[in-house]
Amino acid sequence: MNCGKQVYTWTKEGPVVSKPMACVVGCTTCANLCKGKAITFPDKNELRALYKKEKLWEKVTRQLKKEGKLNPVK
Ligand code: SF4
Repeated sequence: MNCGKQVYTWTKEGPVVSKPMACVVGCTTCANLCKGKAITFPDKNELRALYKKEKLWEKVTRQLKKEGKLNPVK
């Protein structure tokens, strides 16, 4: 697998998603490189609409600030 985040692990049965939370939102590298077209992701416009509808960016921003992982630029 061609994931720089090591989301996949090879097993005797084939690749498995072993670190799903390490996947980068918006990245589609593995799907683009998969010759068998076995990997798909939701359409980016559908994701943008969902994020807007559910106000997910606001929730993510709040959570990151709460965890101290997002600091305003001074
Ligand atoms: S989308 Fe990107 S980060 Fe996520 S598993 Fe594929 S290559 Fe890795």
